[in-house]
Amino acid sequence: MAKTRPRVTSWQPPPTLVIAEQAWVVEGDSGALSDDLYGICQRDQNAIYLTNRMHPDQKLEAFVHELLHAVWGYTSLPEKFSEAEEEIIRALSPHLAAVLRRNKMRFW
Ligand SMILES: [Zn+2]
Repeated sequence: MAKTRPRVTSWQPPPTLVIAEQAWVVEGDSGALSDDLYGICQRDQNAIYLTNRMHPDQKLEAFVHELLHAVWGYTSLPEKFSEAEEEIIRALSPHLAAVLRRNKMRFW
């Protein structure tokens, strides 16, 4: 029997977060998302927007992706919103989402 990837069936992102001691919000599509965008991180608004047009598995990965953009903004990494930032986050976010999914986000 083939191993199947564990599925997240009802996961939803938290509506608020504290990132680097600042309050952030996670909201649905604000109208700013084009059809080909699943999420966006608005650092100047401390907001992550995620479209509702996703399976929960996709939503977790999109959330992690945008969360990494948010965190990146607080680092000393120099290439904010650069192609390098996007490339690195695209490489990391599916793996981090898989760790969270596999461990049911229970770290404490
Ligand atoms: Zn991105």
